[in-house]
This record gives sequence, C-alpha cells and structure tokens, in this order.
Amino acid sequence: MDHATLRRCRSLCPIPFAIMVVALIAAPSPAGEPRPRTFLVGDVRIDVVTTAVDPPATTAADGGPAVALVSVHDDEDTAVEAAREVLRDRGGTLVELRHTGGREIVFQLAGTEHRIDPNRIFTPAGRRATLETLSTWSQPADDVVAAFADELLSTLAIDEVDVVVAIHNNTPDRYTAASYAPGGPLAADAARVRLRPGGDADDFFFVTGTGLFEGLTGRGHSVIVQNEATVQDDGSLSVWCGRMGIPYVNVEAEHGHRAEQAVMLRDLLDVIAEVRPRRAARVASRPPPGCDLVDLQAVEASFVIDNRYATADNVTGRRLYPANVVFLERSAAERLARVQAELRERGLGLKVFDGYRPLAVQQALWKVKPDPRYVADPARGSRHNRGSAVDVTLVDAAGRELPMPSDFDEFGERSHLDYADGPGDALANRETLQKAMRAEGFLPLATEWWHFDAPGWRAFPVMDANPYAGPLFPESSTGAATP
Ligand SMILES: [Zn+2]
Repeated sequence: MDHATLRRCRSLCPIPFAIMVVALIAAPSPAGEPRPRTFLVGDVRIDVVTTAVDPPATTAADGGPAVALVSVHDDEDTAVEAAREVLRDRGGTLVELRHTGGREIVFQLAGTEHRIDPNRIFTPAGRRATLETLSTWSQPADDVVAAFADELLSTLAIDEVDVVVAIHNNTPDRYTAASYAPGGPLAADAARVRLRPGGDADDFFFVTGTGLFEGLTGRGHSVIVQNEATVQDDGSLSVWCGRMGIPYVNVEAEHGHRAEQAVMLRDLLDVIAEVRPRRAARVASRPPPGCDLVDLQAVEASFVIDNRYATADNVTGRRLYPANVVFLERSAAERLARVQAELRERGLGLKVFDGYRPLAVQQALWKVKPDPRYVADPARGSRHNRGSAVDVTLVDAAGRELPMPSDFDEFGERSHLDYADGPGDALANRETLQKAMRAEGFLPLATEWWHFDAPGWRAFPVMDANPYAGPLFPESSTGAATP
C-alpha cells in the first residue's frame, strides 16, 4: 500500500450526513501500479485497490468478454499473489479490498461496534444477516454498508464487465467442493457438482452457467454450478451476479496453494476465451427475486401522490402512466414512510411526484431532455429504473405544497441544491426536505432538489416492468381501454 500516494489524495465525493462513505482517489498511475480508492465505513478506512495491467481486460483485447478479478477478503493473500502472477503475463484488472488484513470488516458507528463479511453485503437480506450474525443490525449501519457495496460495484466497473472472477482462499477441509455434494451442508446451493477424482477438495470452481462448467470440468477441475432457483440469498457476489445475469466464477483454493490457484486462473482465462460467456441484457423485464415493487400508498396511506407523468403536465407533454399511482422498491418505500412519520410529527408531509420508472418511460423522457444532468441516459439506466429513486416535495398538514426554489422538473440553476437566490421561505423549505430525507439515509442529487436515491440501489437491476393495471403511454395505446 502506497501511503505516500494516499496522502496526496483529495476528497472527491464526500457523501454527507448519515452515509459516512468518503472516496479518495489517487492520482492516475502507470499500468500495473495499484490505484487505491479509500472509503470510510463508520470509523474504518477501506482501500479498494485496482491494479490494471495491459491489455486492460483479460480477454477483451481480441473482442472477447471483459473480465474483472476481485478479492474481497483481506486475509486471502495466496489468491492475490496468484492473481498478480497471472495478470503479469495475461493482462487484466484486479480489484482488492485492503483494511486490517482480516477477513471481516469491523467498524464503529455511534459508539456501537459492527462486524460484516464483505462478501455478504450485496443484497438487503445478506446485509441484515451478516450484521446480525457477526454483531448487531441497525439501520444506520446497514445504510453505511449498502452505500459501500454500491461504491465497490462501481469501482469494479460492473456495468461494463462480462464475467466477474472472485478469488478466494479457504482453510483445509472446512469449506470444500464436497460441501455442495448431495447430503452436504450447501447441497441446496448447487445445480451441478463435479468433483475431480483424487483431487484436493479445497481447490475448486463455483460458477454460474453451464458453459463454464463444461469447459472447466473438461480440464479436469472440480466445479460447482450455482442453483439460481434454490441458492440461499446470503448477499454474496455470486447471488448478486446470478440475479443480474452476469457470469460469475469463484476460484477457490486452499491457503498456500499459490501454484495450484495460478494454474486454475490460467485455465479459467482459456475457458472464458473459448466459451465467451456474455452477461444477460442489462435490463430486466420483471423484478428479480428479492425485489418487490410496491404501491407507495399501500405502504403509507398519508403520502400525497401527484404523479405528473400520469398527466400531460410534464416535460413530454403527454401521459406516460395510466394512473396516479407511484411504485417504489419495498425497502425504499419503507424508508420513505419513516421520513413521512417524522415529518407528520411536525405538521408536515411528503408529496410524491415519481418513483419506480419503467425503462420505456425513461426513454420517452430522454427523447425530450437528453441532458444527463437532469435525465439519466437510458443506455445506462436511472436509479428510478431500479425502483430506488424518488422525487418528492413538502406539504403542510392540509396537503398543500410548500414553496420551493423551483417547480418539479424545472431543469435549470433554480433546481440546483446550491442555488441561493430564491425567497427565504423556499430555501428554508428545501433545507427542511433535504435534512428529513438525509436523516433516513436518502442520498441527494446536486442538480435536483426533489430527487433522492436510496443506498443499496445496486442490489436491484434496471427494469422495464409495468407494475400498473393498465398499459403505459395510455393515449398512444391501441389496446383495450385503461381502467
Ligand atoms: Zn428523480
């Protein structure tokens, strides 16, 4: 770890208030030199170190799949050494977590110690389980870990990756390929199991997809295929990749089996170059397991719903939704209900303009406003498309909107959070809204006072689902009349 480089770092994106994750990015370094981004999770500093050796993606140079190698357990040095050896002659990118040299991340938040396994943080159920099992769960601790998981996946450039290769080491005979065999403790997680006769059961691959299984067993390795229907949602990267349709490989070897693990990695890269696994479409046509789009008013009836996109009074000038209903992913909806409960104690409340937004609607907005400061490019998708972003304003006890510095969807400097020229009451209302939302962990957007993201948004895919009872774009629909 190059601490001199770190000392030169500058803070680029401090995320304020409850989410205490601060990213520090080192100056660019020549190919092959580790580049750290540093995050604060509670009081502990985690370096997410990227080493990129040309060609930048292991098999992408010849048009093959882009591969990312990742090491999330800081005590698995054999795996990292083997990966570095293979990177030197094959090229590629390795992302590794460094903090204390231990497997788990231990951090303090508001005087309480929390402990997580960093390979159990990629889904809400996983985060809760790892916090509860290893220490105690609290919402602020969950929020900090969720925001770190989002940033870790971003650092992996996960939107560009075709295959995720996680490298791990294990302690002899505790967790082995045999754990997945019929009757074993992890049998339910496996769709196929092939144990190499006479091989060391501590050295094996765990994969999604059968193409990689055939290729690797053909080279004599022990291989397990994840059972997507029955695998336990433990929040691991393999479960997350399975849900997102991203091919995933876990290269698991015993501590100290450096030469064996290097052979496994070289064989894997050969198989990937042959099989050319590709990620599924980045857009899901329906919510995956663990993602539940809910009607906001069914969660909390006191929200005022004013879905502008259900009327022609919006930037597109036409109706995009068939009804004045706003959907949100369940955990974000429950988070918003907590904001509402706190505001109602003060005689205030929330009016909601939009939440989950099908990708088709995103495309319609982008058509009239192709400006990424205000509308996310549908090619990448918005956090609205993941059911994890919401557009809101404040109302009084009678449900009347309070003045704000600009209208909703007024795209310009008056909608920016740093706009200071508005009437005093509007600026004060904006601050009240920002504080209330941030207190429950929502993350603001600098260019839109009304927009907020829920931490952990990367747990959910970009979706082009229609949760409404009628068709989208009701006026242009040629189908049956909308209810
Ligand atoms: Zn928004």
